[in-house]
Amino acid sequence: MDFLSKKARAIAPYTAGEQPRDRKYIKLNTNENPYPPSRAAAEALRVFHEDDLRRYPSPDADGLREAIARAHGVKPENVFCGNGSDEVLALSFPAFFDGDGAGACFADITYSFYEVFARFFGIPQVIVPLRADFTLDLSAMRAARCRGYYIANPNAPTGVGIGRAQMEQFIASVPDRLVILDEAYMDFFGESCVPLTARYENVLVVRTFSKSYALAGIRCGYAVGNAALIAGLRCMKDCFNSYPVDAVAQAVCCAAVADKPYYDGVIARVVAERERLRAALCSRGFTVPESRANFLFAGRAKVSARAIYEGLKEAGVLVRHWNRPVICDFVRITVGTREQDEALLAALDRILADHSA
Ligand code: PMP
Repeated sequence: MDFLSKKARAIAPYTAGEQPRDRKYIKLNTNENPYPPSRAAAEALRVFHEDDLRRYPSPDADGLREAIARAHGVKPENVFCGNGSDEVLALSFPAFFDGDGAGACFADITYSFYEVFARFFGIPQVIVPLRADFTLDLSAMRAARCRGYYIANPNAPTGVGIGRAQMEQFIASVPDRLVILDEAYMDFFGESCVPLTARYENVLVVRTFSKSYALAGIRCGYAVGNAALIAGLRCMKDCFNSYPVDAVAQAVCCAAVADKPYYDGVIARVVAERERLRAALCSRGFTVPESRANFLFAGRAKVSARAIYEGLKEAGVLVRHWNRPVICDFVRITVGTREQDEALLAALDRILADHSA
């Protein structure tokens, strides 16, 4: 007897980057921050009271929403928190799209979870190919028939970013469509559209604690938008899980979000190292689009990206490779510490030497 539903039998789920435990790798495959979280966040964990484990957390993460609102200069009713930005994105599909509606529009090369969510919730997809240089074709998106958009900015896995002024033009040009901006990597770019959420009712910005805040283990993300959009997300959450953000996550993220000086320093280090690593890859013959994120998308003529991925793995360095058209010639490399990146480059030099031998 097969007890699975038709949906469970048919759907192809999202595949996350590997998290192997068989040996110690230099992990440059899931865009984690190589630096530790703020000491204030670690301290919040240390002083966490056991009585707060016994009780349910604030269902809407009230204290955390206040802290996030303060950091962004918005009101708590403009903030929604979820169990990772993946959950916030998941809830946004049924909150803002209908199965029999005009659908959700996104690029062919972008965060592949959008496609999985659209299929899971039975929402039509309108796919717009990236241009050959991996930039987003905003005019083709504007011309597409759809109800709204998902735009990862900077985009994953390419790292290509769109500045705030250009994004504002786009948002202003589609006033009757919702623009959902996934800003998972925006702190490494500094062109956030959060300030636009007060002026445009058709923009929702989704952010995460997993990357710039170095808190991927905590699982917390949030959305900023007008109160009506936030209420839509809350309604979906309460149909699914009343308490998605646990008490530990709320306490740790509250402390992290208040420690801007520490994180400004971490972000500056990652950005400086990104530029150094990109130059090093380019000088080795790689094609690397300019990245605004904490990772680089690198491909090289004559050596297959699969061989690079496998050679690096054998050398103890994990990067990400997809067996998909267009992007199969590239690997995505998370920016690590200078030492980690030096180890990556040394391993790459050996692989390239083997291939030219
Ligand atoms: N958006 C993008 C573009 C991402 O790359 C990721 C990380 N896989 C996420 C959202 C989700 O991050 P998290 O659920 O850890 O907040």
